[in-house]
Amino acid sequence: MTEITDHIAETLERVRLAQFAAGRTVDEVTVLAVSKQQPVAAIRAAYQAGLWNFGENFLQEAIVKLKELEALDITWHFIGRIQSNKTRDIAELFQWVHTVDRLKIAARLNDQRPHFSPPLNVCIQVNQAGEAQKGGVKESEVADLARAVMSLPRLRLRGLMTLPPTTPDPQTNTPLFARLNRLKEVLIEAGIPLDTLSMGMSADLEVAIGQGSTIVRIGTAIFGPRNSIQREQGD
Ligand SMILES: *Cc1c(COP(=O)(O)O)cnc(C)c1O
Repeated sequence: MTEITDHIAETLERVRLAQFAAGRTVDEVTVLAVSKQQPVAAIRAAYQAGLWNFGENFLQEAIVKLKELEALDITWHFIGRIQSNKTRDIAELFQWVHTVDRLKIAARLNDQRPHFSPPLNVCIQVNQAGEAQKGGVKESEVADLARAVMSLPRLRLRGLMTLPPTTPDPQTNTPLFARLNRLKEVLIEAGIPLDTLSMGMSADLEVAIGQGSTIVRIGTAIFGPRNSIQREQGD
């Protein structure tokens, strides 16, 4: 597991350099370790190496791991597709959800968030390239959904999330990241207080940080390749 410790050090160094290059303050960006399809031992190693934000995509897999790791002070983020029959477990077990893209799902999460827990932190997923196989609302629909989510008392709207098209050259997605950043600013000007941009993964964290990312979601660069039996985003 020393490999994971080394990978984390390398990743944090990439993040630090990218922030420096973008003229940003050093603690503006959170590294979210994406632990889908990784064993509990790998999560423990990453936690011991100093990370405490972890992201999971597949609810059934996550339930088992969260239970095993409940003694650790981990902030759990749900970053997979959300089916409506899964909202109760998500609302009970996670502190963040990055993939809200429908009011129906937001309303269920709101209703099912336990009253002894703080409001659930939520990002709206934006499908910027109109990819049919991915979740997310159109950019033109974000403001309406954001206003609706804002009115739900058990949710705390934090920001926007994007999962741009896979590309061999990460620079290709620079305009998409820039547009999401601009959209966040527009919403803030319109009275919707957002502080989060969840964008950037192993291959393109530098590009995303250059365009204002505040949470980078890093899987492979920390844990190495996943066993790829399960599909990428969904449950
Ligand atoms: C798997 C996944 C990641 C991590 O991707 P890597 O390229 O392995 O860093 C980030 N975000 C989401 C939504 C994912 O599904």
